[in-house]
Amino acid sequence: MGNFVKPQVHLVGFTEVHEPGLHGYLKATNQLGFWDTYLAARNDGLTGGEALCSVYAKLCYKSLVLGTNANVVKVRDIETNLRSCHETGHGSVFEHCSLNFIVTNCSRVYTHEQVRHRAAPPHGNADALDNDQSGDGVAYAQTSGRYCRLDNIDLVWSDVLDPVKDLWRNKLGHIEDLVYLTECRLGLRKPPNNGLTYPDKSIADDLCLDYSREDPQHAQYRWVPDDSFNFEKRKIITSAIRRIAPNGQSNEIGMTLNIRALRHVVQVRTARFAETEIRDIYNQVYGIVNEKFRTIFHGARTRDHEGLLEVYGMRQQPYDLDPHDPRCLEVWTTSELQREIDARATLQA
Ligand SMILES: Cc1cc2nc3c(=O)[nH]c(=O)nc-3n(C[C@H](O)[C@H](O)[C@H](O)COP(=O)(O)OP(=O)(O)OC[C@H]3O[C@@H](n4cnc5c(N)ncnc54)[C@H](O)[C@@H]3O)c2cc1C
Repeated sequence: MGNFVKPQVHLVGFTEVHEPGLHGYLKATNQLGFWDTYLAARNDGLTGGEALCSVYAKLCYKSLVLGTNANVVKVRDIETNLRSCHETGHGSVFEHCSLNFIVTNCSRVYTHEQVRHRAAPPHGNADALDNDQSGDGVAYAQTSGRYCRLDNIDLVWSDVLDPVKDLWRNKLGHIEDLVYLTECRLGLRKPPNNGLTYPDKSIADDLCLDYSREDPQHAQYRWVPDDSFNFEKRKIITSAIRRIAPNGQSNEIGMTLNIRALRHVVQVRTARFAETEIRDIYNQVYGIVNEKFRTIFHGARTRDHEGLLEVYGMRQQPYDLDPHDPRCLEVWTTSELQREIDARATLQA
C-alpha cells in the first residue's frame, strides 16, 4: 500500500537577466549609466528577475538614467523603485518576472483549487498603466491521470483525520486492489513470468479476483504489467480506471507564476478561509520566495492562524487602500471595517 504524505514545494527556476543583452540595449540607447545601478543592486543581493521588473518600470517613464525625459529630475535605485511600484499598485511591471515551482505529494483536492488561478489581476489606473498589456499570470503542468498508472496510491494526509487513520489505511488498500483486479481483467496485466504456477488451478483461473495483498504467498503470483498490450487501449483503460482514485491521491504539479499573480494567490490562499493543504503549500511558497527575493512581498504583513501564517496587506491595485490608511474610514463598508478590527483583535490576543 502507498504512504500517507504531506505536500512539499520546490522553487526550480525564475526569470533571470541576459546581461549581454541588457548591456547592449543600454549602450545602444545611451543609457549605460544604468549599468552601474544594475550591478549595485545585484551586488546588494537583488535577483535578476527583480532587477528586470525595475528595468521595465523605468522604461515606462524613461527614468533609467537622467537626461532622457525632462520630467524626470531624479532617478531611484532599483530597490527603491520596486518598492515604490508595489506601493503605488503599478502591478503590471511585475508580470515580467516569473517563478517556477514544483509541488510534490500534493492532492487533487489542492490542484483543483490551484488551477482556478489563471491570470494576474487586471489593470486599475489607466493613467499609470495605459502602456501595459495584460498577460497570463500562471502556467501549469500536472501528473497525467490519463497516462500514469495507479500502482500505489499515496494519500495526502490531513491531520483532521488522524483519529481514523487506521480505518483509512485498511480501506485504501481495497481501492488499490480494485485497480489491480480491473487491470488484470481488462488485459493490462498478465500472469507473472517467474515460472511459478499457482498451485490450485481453480484459484489460479480466478487469481486476479481472489488476490489478497495481505498474503505474501499470493504476492509472488501477482500479475505483472503486460507491455505488449496495445498502447492506445492501455491509455484509454488507465484513464478510465482513475475514476476510482480518491481526490486525496498524491500527485505533482508544476506551476509558474509571475510576481503579480504570486502576490495575489499568496494572499487569498494563506487566508484562514482557504483549505489547510493549500494554506500549507502557500506558507511554504511564501517562506521560500521571501528568503530569496526580498522585494516580492513588499507590504506584506503576517499573522498566525491555527499554526499557519496568514499573509495580508499587500497592495494589489492602485485603488487598493492599505488597511492602516485613515481613508479606509471613509471608503470601507462597516463589515470591512469590522473584519479589520476583528483581525487586529486576534493579532493582539
Ligand atoms: C477561501 C476560498 C473558497 C473558495 N470556494 C469556492 C467555491 O466554493 N466554489 C468555487 O467554484 N470556487 C471557489 N473558490 C475559488 C474562487 O472562486 C476563484 O476561482 C479562485 O480563488 C481563483 O481566484 P481569482 O478569481 O482571483 O482568479 P485568478 O486567476 O487568480 O485571477 C486574479 C485576478 O485577476 C482578475 N481576473 C482573472 N481572470 C479574469 C477574468 N477572466 N475576467 C476579469 N478579471 C479576471 C480578477 O481580479 C482576479 O481576482 C474559492 C476560493 C477561496 C480562496
